[in-house]
Amino acid sequence: MRIHNFAAGPATLPLEVLEQARDELVDWRGAGMSVMEVSHRSKAFVAVAEQAEADLRELLAVPPGYKVLFLQGGATGQFSAIPMNLTGPDAIADYINTGQWSKKAISEAKRYLRVTVIADEKASNYSTVPAASDLVLSSGAAYLHYTPNETIGGVEFPYVPDSGEVPLVADMSSTILSRPVDVGRFGLIYAGAQKNIGPSGITVVIVREDLVGKARAGTPTVFDYQAMAEAGSMLNTPPTFGWYIAGLVFRWLKGKGGLVAIEKRNRAKAERLYAAIDASPFYANPVDPGCRSWMNIPFTIARPELEKTFVAEAASEGLANLEGHRSVGGMRASIYNAMGMDGVEALVLFMAEFERRHG
Ligand SMILES: *Cc1c(COP(=O)(O)O)cnc(C)c1O
Repeated sequence: MRIHNFAAGPATLPLEVLEQARDELVDWRGAGMSVMEVSHRSKAFVAVAEQAEADLRELLAVPPGYKVLFLQGGATGQFSAIPMNLTGPDAIADYINTGQWSKKAISEAKRYLRVTVIADEKASNYSTVPAASDLVLSSGAAYLHYTPNETIGGVEFPYVPDSGEVPLVADMSSTILSRPVDVGRFGLIYAGAQKNIGPSGITVVIVREDLVGKARAGTPTVFDYQAMAEAGSMLNTPPTFGWYIAGLVFRWLKGKGGLVAIEKRNRAKAERLYAAIDASPFYANPVDPGCRSWMNIPFTIARPELEKTFVAEAASEGLANLEGHRSVGGMRASIYNAMGMDGVEALVLFMAEFERRHG
């Protein structure tokens, strides 16, 4: 029996995708073996890889002039790969700090260049994002990096920062494909797969071509965008199974009507859950209502001593992985694309019932 999995990542995948993968696991499309056992250089796998890229480009309406790469090393690998590929050793880059993933990106980038944190939401305990008008870039910044959705804090930018001529770099790990986005405004978008794309182990990088080919000396070849682009992301053995599943997820998204339809569904899910939280004196969400994440919804209960009970009782009702990140406590419901409204309704119902018994 499938439960409702509210984990932040690895996260729930569409049931239809899992069923298709199961059905063709042992004998993949007549190959007599699984997709995991097929050479990444075979015609059949290259077709899968190319179709996945084409579908991703179509879903996001990626304009011409961008490379789409399927890499390894996670979003965390990109924290290093970005400064290594985009800048020389004396560079400076601007970062916006809106929470824990921003912080990690910043501390890793500091190993490679001079980081200027042009906005830091510490004073609000990372419950909001800076106003667009407060963002002033440093002169000479090689790029501006930000985290559109903070997966742990549940804080999301309601706007795309204007970085002028400076390339805008976004860690979209927990928000990519949740709604349409104007890719043309970005120099580079990256995302670990395990939230909204597929299994862990694959990392999508969408990078404007003029930013490719400038990697500093010493950049590992597997992290060099140019080398990877030239090799079709197959300079070494790629995570073939993850790439295949990502392709199935892209197909699934297209079948659902693409990102305009998914946006509607995601907005409705988030509104339903926030409405339930806001309507009750027992539950609270600490985030500025203008910057609340559609994907990751942290909440607390009026009697914090009951948190463990809440999480355990929810799990016994098939609502799994609702504990907040270990660094912040409380609860968190991650409701990525693959979480249906039925899961959100089941959670809302459980919350009301729990409040009735303990409120
Ligand atoms: C999950 C996550 C990461 C880390 O991804 P890894 O693939 O584990 O390196 C980075 N940034 C954000 C916003 C995330 O949600």
